[in-house]
Amino acid sequence: MDRIYLDYAATAPLLPEAREAMLPWLQESYGNPSSLHAEGRAARCAIDVARETTSDAMGCDFGEVTFTSSGTEAANLAILGLALADRDASRRRVLMSAVEHDCVLSTKPLLERLGFSVQLISVDSHAVVNIAELEESLGSDVLLVAVMHANNELGTIQPVQEIAELTKKAGALFFCDAVQTFVTLPGKVQDMGADLVAVSAHKIGGPKGAGALYTRGGLKLQPLAVGGGQEREMRAGTENVAAIAGFGVAIQRSLGDAGRSSRMKEARNSFVESVNRFVAPENNRPAPSWTLPDSISPLPGHAHVRFPGLSAESILIVLDRMGVSASSGAACSSGSLEPSHVLKACGYSDEESREGLRFTFGPSISAVRAVEAGTRVAAAAEQVCRARAR
Ligand code: PLP
Repeated sequence: MDRIYLDYAATAPLLPEAREAMLPWLQESYGNPSSLHAEGRAARCAIDVARETTSDAMGCDFGEVTFTSSGTEAANLAILGLALADRDASRRRVLMSAVEHDCVLSTKPLLERLGFSVQLISVDSHAVVNIAELEESLGSDVLLVAVMHANNELGTIQPVQEIAELTKKAGALFFCDAVQTFVTLPGKVQDMGADLVAVSAHKIGGPKGAGALYTRGGLKLQPLAVGGGQEREMRAGTENVAAIAGFGVAIQRSLGDAGRSSRMKEARNSFVESVNRFVAPENNRPAPSWTLPDSISPLPGHAHVRFPGLSAESILIVLDRMGVSASSGAACSSGSLEPSHVLKACGYSDEESREGLRFTFGPSISAVRAVEAGTRVAAAAEQVCRARAR
């Protein structure tokens, strides 16, 4: 059976143009970008071209982009690098939303070891940050607010401009994890109002192992990797020239693809309709419960659903056998799915938080394939439901 890959939020296939751009830097063009000779200068030039593309896409200056090994590293550098830079001893609190990616939430114990207190800001049942709580919590002792542009599990888009304004009013800094939204949503850093923004290559058809951090000019971070003076002393270590070159071309290609978001949305909507049609009660199949109501527009390629009473793990195993790759969005530990921290923060029970299924669509999934995937999802839910009843 032909496979249908619906896990673009986890990673997207490498775009052919990105691959082409990478190949020379994996073989014949092997210079170290810090070397002054011709080979080194050529490698430096490839990085500069990618930096130009990235800074244009983010709407910032060339020198405000630091390439990293991943979105995770970019987020770590933003948060821990800021905390370690020790700018203002009177600001010792950090606020982050309860639905942040683990690359943000996992900085909490480290920040606490550095003497910061970290407060998680609650969200509503659709994972939208509680603005009133954020406003109340902001004060002259807050160093940083970390809220993602859109949630990776549900696809919920956060009111980042409002968050940025409140943060600025309190004199704090705003870090925004834009890994899921980069090139998919308009995301110029000025419009977002963020001081620090993390993005990643492999979510948009670039290679795994490349990310970038925007740091507003003049803002000092303590590098977490020290040694050489690469990346304007923000991140030591010889750059991954091939991955950075591939990242730049993936950005160009994605931005140049005018119909990208609408194709993703069309595929997503066709999928949702297909699941609803095939699980209609008259078909005597388990009914889906879509996590976000129609009144909330998520990221164009995101669909999140539960089949109440059926664990995501069981459905995903059957779906994988049926040729559909999807995910729960939750971490997998020792073979069993942990309840999703995002669903728990939205108020779901542990059991319900193990039921979340995330289907994420990329620009190359046709509506026809999406409809086919929907029929398989309905059949998988029915199969799990029957097995449970036996
Ligand atoms: N932030 C969000 C919202 C993500 O979805 C991901 C990846 O899943 C990351 C950060 C981490 O990015 P990377 O895989 O490049 O480390």
